[in-house]
Amino acid sequence: MTKGYKYRIYPNSAQIEYMNSIFDSCRFVYNHFLAERKEVWEKQKRSMSYTDTSRLLTILKKDPGYVWLSSCDSMALQESLKDLDRAYKSFFAKRGRYPHFKSKRDHRRSYRTRNVNNCIRIEDKRLILPKVGRVKIKLSRGFKGRILNATVSKTATGKYYVSLCVEEELIPKPNAGGIIAIDVGISEFYSDSNGYKLENPVPLRKHEKKLSREQRRLSRKVKGSKNYEKQRIKVAKVHEKIYSVRTDFLHKESTKLVSDNQVIGIETLNVKGMIRNHHLAKSIQDASWNRFLEMLKYKSLEYGCSIEPMPRFYASSQVCSYCGYKNIKVKDLSVRSWVCPVCGISHDRDVNAAVNILNKTMMLISTSW
Ligand SMILES: [Zn+2]
Repeated sequence: MTKGYKYRIYPNSAQIEYMNSIFDSCRFVYNHFLAERKEVWEKQKRSMSYTDTSRLLTILKKDPGYVWLSSCDSMALQESLKDLDRAYKSFFAKRGRYPHFKSKRDHRRSYRTRNVNNCIRIEDKRLILPKVGRVKIKLSRGFKGRILNATVSKTATGKYYVSLCVEEELIPKPNAGGIIAIDVGISEFYSDSNGYKLENPVPLRKHEKKLSREQRRLSRKVKGSKNYEKQRIKVAKVHEKIYSVRTDFLHKESTKLVSDNQVIGIETLNVKGMIRNHHLAKSIQDASWNRFLEMLKYKSLEYGCSIEPMPRFYASSQVCSYCGYKNIKVKDLSVRSWVCPVCGISHDRDVNAAVNILNKTMMLISTSW
């Protein structure tokens, strides 16, 4: 299995300068070949492949006007051509929008490079990166396995990180053997089939208030001025804080679910479709539901837990989990609780949905075993 490990790194000033030049070169290559692919399509109605662009890059590097590209980590340039190709593929598969040019003004930068002949490795508590050399790293947790690639990134506040993609042997971790179903919450993060409601992390609210205050201040500064830049970093710092509080929360809760349970039933709602609905947008983004699902999926492998998604159009909220009556009035999201007109049981909207998901999960797994 492959697993990601993220560490803070502390490049020295020469390394920072060199990393910045790689960020620039990668952005240049991406934009240059995006323009090229666009033009070929418009003039010749032909689409270029990754191999086409890779061949052209080799030629471009020999051009006296572009020799500076040769001093760059060549693997990183290839990876950015792959990213471009991936962006095109997802556009053609209707999964994403048309690739857009990368802006110079984006304060978050990154590049990815591949591990060939062990050129990326940890040695004497230092990270060895191709062409960059030995970089100081804070190894917060160790790993055992082969590094496949490394993504070097710089945040909007100027911190540097590396994400290592590592191929590891799967070592099973203990599982408590429970069975549970969870339903995406609107006011809470989720409700489960035991009637438990997981609240969104409280500190987030405080930071969010701070964020809107700092953003308001930023809007009053003159763009490009020194004060604007100072304020921009303040805003970015609050953003980073919010992201890290959320990430900690998601990690803690996803690990708990996959280690406590052998089976987890989950509603497969169309998160994109829900975000288009204005009322839900904030809470869904708050909850970072998609990231949570991703964590559950990869952690479930280690804990021998099986994630069971619901059939796409299963109306989990509208069915009475006790008698099976379908109450279409509950379709309205503002209905938070209801009493079944047939059996008279009173329901909390989300807990009832979670119980239905659990019943459906039991049915699905019993027929598949
Ligand atoms: Zn009922």
